[in-house]
Amino acid sequence: MIESEYDVAIIGGGPAGSTVCALLKKYWPQAKVVIFERESFPRDHVGESQLPHVSAILDEMGVWDKVERAGFPIKVGATYRWGKSDRLWDFEFIQDGAFVSEARPGKYAGQRTQTAFQVDRALYDKILLDHARGQGGDVFEAAKVTSVEHAGDRIVSLTVQHKDVTQRVKARHYVDCSGHTGVMRKAMGVETECPTTLQNIAIWDYWQNAEWAVSIGVGGTRVQVLSLGYGWIWFIPLGPTRTSIGLIVPAQYYKETGLRPEEMYERALASDPIIQGLTKNAVSENKLSTTKDWSFLAERLSGENWFLAGESSGFADPILAAGMTLAHRGAREVAYTILELERGELDPSWLKSRYSDGHRRSIMQHIRFADFWYTQNGLFSELKNFTRQIAGEVGLNMTSDEAWRWFGTGGFIDHDRVAADVAGFALHAAKNIASSFLGEEVEYRISGRTHFKLNLEEASRSWGADVANGRIRRHRCYTREGQSLPMVGIWAWFARMLGQERTAQEIMDAANIHREFGGMSREEQIRFPREMVEALETLVLDGWVVTRTVEDFEPWPKFVVDCEGFMHLNRDIALRFSNC
Ligand SMILES: Cc1cc2nc3c(=O)[nH]c(=O)nc-3n(C[C@H](O)[C@H](O)[C@H](O)COP(=O)(O)OP(=O)(O)OC[C@H]3O[C@@H](n4cnc5c(N)ncnc54)[C@H](O)[C@@H]3O)c2cc1C
Repeated sequence: MIESEYDVAIIGGGPAGSTVCALLKKYWPQAKVVIFERESFPRDHVGESQLPHVSAILDEMGVWDKVERAGFPIKVGATYRWGKSDRLWDFEFIQDGAFVSEARPGKYAGQRTQTAFQVDRALYDKILLDHARGQGGDVFEAAKVTSVEHAGDRIVSLTVQHKDVTQRVKARHYVDCSGHTGVMRKAMGVETECPTTLQNIAIWDYWQNAEWAVSIGVGGTRVQVLSLGYGWIWFIPLGPTRTSIGLIVPAQYYKETGLRPEEMYERALASDPIIQGLTKNAVSENKLSTTKDWSFLAERLSGENWFLAGESSGFADPILAAGMTLAHRGAREVAYTILELERGELDPSWLKSRYSDGHRRSIMQHIRFADFWYTQNGLFSELKNFTRQIAGEVGLNMTSDEAWRWFGTGGFIDHDRVAADVAGFALHAAKNIASSFLGEEVEYRISGRTHFKLNLEEASRSWGADVANGRIRRHRCYTREGQSLPMVGIWAWFARMLGQERTAQEIMDAANIHREFGGMSREEQIRFPREMVEALETLVLDGWVVTRTVEDFEPWPKFVVDCEGFMHLNRDIALRFSNC
């Protein structure tokens, strides 16, 4: 048996494994990093539609240009048929759908920082794995990790079967990026929970020569998510000729129909006029695949000398197209955590639990936001009750209806992030979504309030972190019942000012001065008014700021979600398929 030693050994060469390796090698060039990948690339893999967060990580890895050169369609948003009506509506990544034509290959700058890719995973995963190799990682394909040897919570070695050769591999850190297989997760006895009542199955195939539903600028398009009532269809162009078309249905429904997967798939596609139109000259590649897509979450993501990253750590239903975002983000966090462990300046147990707790919370938010989404799709109505439980967990006593409204409009400040977001959506976009589902205006909670004051009752002091340029830097934050108030940026600005009660007018005056004289760039000055409103709304929703309304004082102006900016009724596909 061959024996080898590395600084970091990674199981799995999907997006998570390549991200860990590329970022480690970028910031720690002399590190000995190895990836063992069971398959020989290229190989097909489901999960093609990305979110813009991924683009930023690809850029940091130094691989965005290579992905762009492959010419994948640019995802500028998604078209949905969902919720209470049969009408199509668009979700735009760029406000007002203002994507302008630019020659390709482009650069990661300007509008492209707000777009994503729709990737053919056979090509994409290979580009990333080759990049990891090019950065100096040792990459073995057709190399299956067959066992994980450990003493208690400490991994001692991996056994790898590479073609005819068996290897024993030792490393200082081990990372499980083996996706759904969860090789290390299982070996280390890490339990998983399934915090949802959603149990769906996916059936999909690849098609040649399907039409794109819409072409926007050079290479831009939107993916289609089309509810059928009992389930939904995804339609994701992966290039000029190849398209991924999939069906998601509840497992119970699938069982009750007694249909075979191919029958159910064919019937679903045949029943949808848009899919019918787009595939009328197309042929399937006859690669029909099925999988169950239960959301799940591992109970911990780190141990003495190991980490779980990517889908081995958890999975959220694909409705939000967030799987790869979570995989790349989690993998980046693991790379940064290992870098800091090696530097030895920060407390190792804080670093590990920061990743484990923080990333678990992020996956959980996505699972719950996906649940919320399904709540709006007919058959899944029992999930309304579920959102009530979620609200209960953070101490809010609500009816089911109130709870799902709160969930769609709620603010969640992540421990580390400096912007308000809900499962990766900016707060205004989340409110916009809720507003479209409800078919009514969603007001900001701060509207009409006159007085605002910081509320730190029962909060405790702890640490948050800035994660950039290969470093994790700590900053102070307050925590209370799972919510966090980071003492940086706009949050710290509000916390300082609202230590004593202020009127709406005083806050607006202070904001104007801060904007003019706070050393902001022109771009920051433009973004500041919206960011300030969203931050204050989030602080109020999360209970960090309490408000009241006093007569004769100027109230905070009514601030209604701009329903047209990020989400609006579809204006192009609906015209092509006029019966929709
Ligand atoms: C039906 C469905 C639809 C989805 N749609 C989307 C979507 O639209 N957008 C999105 O962002 N995400 C989507 N996802 C999720 C996405 O597929 C995953 O989030 C993503 O692939 C996770 O990347 P990863 O690197 O963690 O795992 P993977 O991509 O699965 O990579 C894991 C790798 O580990 C290797 N491996 C496994 N066992 C071993 C072993 N013993 N030894 C060595 N190597 C091993 C595997 O061969 C594989 O290459 C979807 C998922 C499903 C199920």
